[in-house]
Amino acid sequence: MNSTDLAGAIKDLARRAGFLAAGIAPAGPVAQATRLHAWLERGYCADMDFMRRNLAQRCCPAELVRGARSVICLAASYAPPPGADRDGMVARYARGADYHKVLKRRSAALVQAIRAIEPGFLGRAFVDSGPVMERSLAAAAGLGWTGRNGCVFVDGAGSYCVLAEIVCNLPLPADSPQPGRCGDCRACVAACPTGALHDDGLVDARRCISYLTIEHRGTIDPSLWPRMGVRLFGCDACQAVCPHNRDLPAGDSELAGAAPLGGAGLVEVFTWPEAHWRQATAGSATRRATHEMFLRNAILAAGNSGDASLAAPLRAIQGSAPHWAELAGWALARLSGEADNPFDASTTPSV
Ligand code: SF4
Ligand code: SF4
Repeated sequence: MNSTDLAGAIKDLARRAGFLAAGIAPAGPVAQATRLHAWLERGYCADMDFMRRNLAQRCCPAELVRGARSVICLAASYAPPPGADRDGMVARYARGADYHKVLKRRSAALVQAIRAIEPGFLGRAFVDSGPVMERSLAAAAGLGWTGRNGCVFVDGAGSYCVLAEIVCNLPLPADSPQPGRCGDCRACVAACPTGALHDDGLVDARRCISYLTIEHRGTIDPSLWPRMGVRLFGCDACQAVCPHNRDLPAGDSELAGAAPLGGAGLVEVFTWPEAHWRQATAGSATRRATHEMFLRNAILAAGNSGDASLAAPLRAIQGSAPHWAELAGWALARLSGEADNPFDASTTPSV
């Protein structure tokens, strides 16, 4: 089989393994590496110091996996079904089964399937699991185009897609990148509640609700508290407003779940013992944030909720978790209308 036919056969196998789309990128230097360098230079990586390490490998898959010639880039869709809320308390990508596990399983099956037709194939799969510029590689592989919200848009999934990569030893023909389709639109930049998103598509993690609620431990800059809306885990504001995310077919049933955290609301999160949190987040990407981070996020969300019935559990938190007493005090003041920064419904998603 020649390399063009082999690339076509691999894409067919990828679809059979459960991926929506597949494309091939060269394993050499990544074209969008300049974006990573600009992001780091501006300090947008917040305290994710690991992003400054292994830059040579991150910017060139052939440096990461010796002998690599190509990267098979893969996407699966978690697009919400028509009519579903698109910016709720838990980010859409984390509402179904943990995509890391799902995509790793499918990638492993794909590696086996490729080896069955090409015994010399060697591949190493990554799902958010190494120094890999996954979105930039997906763009280089023509899997999608890069939007101003920093996401990759894949036909049939919009930016509601999760990505995997198989760095391999085969010299497969690379696909062509797609041109961007944002045009003059700035809807996502305008919709970002905290001003984290910039016109050039770079996200300042220091202000990004996704980073702050999922990755950042400890306290959050108080100036951002009233702008974070009713969000427990992540933020989809810059995806929800995008015209390219409308009228999509519902995503993968395994990934696009509907009732995250076992249906728990803010009151349950306030009173969760750690064992209940473990149960509610089992098998889900929500496990990425700790029990303590969920409590902090729930206090913030309660303060922004406008729901006076949450005052009693907030007062209980003041007594039981002294390290969050200041935050709970702010949330109580905000609920009673005494805090600065009046409630702004336009920045608050549906729950
Ligand atoms: S995820 Fe939310 S906070 Fe982060 S850039 Fe997008 S809209 Fe802004
Ligand atoms: S909302 Fe507009 S600017 Fe943002 S990614 Fe979508 S098309 Fe591009």
